[in-house]
Amino acid sequence: ALRLRGVRKNFGEHAALDGVSLDVQEGEVVVVIGPSGSGKSTLIRCVHQLDTIDAGAIYLDGELLGYEQHRGGLRALGARRVAAQRSRMSMVFQQFNLIPHFTVLRNITEAPVRVHGRPRAEAEAEGMELLERVGLADRAHHYPRQLSGGQQQRVAIARAVATKPRITLFDEPTSALDPELVDDVLAVMRGLAEEGMTMIVVTHEMAFAREVADRCVFMESGRIVESGPPAELFTTPSSPRLRSFLARHH
Ligand code: ATP
Ligand code: MG
Repeated sequence: ALRLRGVRKNFGEHAALDGVSLDVQEGEVVVVIGPSGSGKSTLIRCVHQLDTIDAGAIYLDGELLGYEQHRGGLRALGARRVAAQRSRMSMVFQQFNLIPHFTVLRNITEAPVRVHGRPRAEAEAEGMELLERVGLADRAHHYPRQLSGGQQQRVAIARAVATKPRITLFDEPTSALDPELVDDVLAVMRGLAEEGMTMIVVTHEMAFAREVADRCVFMESGRIVESGPPAELFTTPSSPRLRSFLARHH
């Protein structure tokens, strides 16, 4: 479903991504781990086109993201075409980013109605089903500030999947939560994974990575240093950097 080839992203002199190649198949859950500053957020921001890349290519379902062929070279796509490509993906942030003056249900139905042109009644019925699934049907008409962090994040996840994205990108979705709220959010993500949703998850939750990931990717200094099924990666890490990272994150 998603293919990265030699992706490079520079911030000034510094390469935040230094030639990253990665394939995520349909229905696959890829968990990205790595130390602070290794490029995890930059990776998924580039996939979602919140950042532009400086070299390499990203394809979604075979379609090049952000650029098109033009006179033997590449040129950047216009804003509308980028928006259309972005609408096939969703992202869940550490800081929920719900719209404060919209109700919970409105937060979920806004993109399906405004971006995807779905009839509001239909979007609302589906939104209610999603809220049921994340255990918050009784909060549909509340505002984000009336919910706990964990509840807000479950709404943010419902919002992300309401547009039926080809892939959902999670950037440390539980890092801002009080510890007792983390499990409910991880349970929702696990449920989506079991239903076959394609996802990339940046997380420090190693138990989640172990149990839910089809593949785990370890990043360091803008590169993928090691990747494989979590059972393999966690029990027989080949690089010393991953070994010491795992020792610190148990
Ligand atoms: P963390 O675990 O702390 O979230 P990360 O792996 O997500 O770290 P990134 O946020 O992707 O790391 O950052 C990768 C590198 O790029 C870091 O050295 C960071 O300082 C740099 N960087 C990221 N965003 C910017 C920016 N907007 N301007 C300049 N440098 C940036
Ligand atoms: Mg980050």
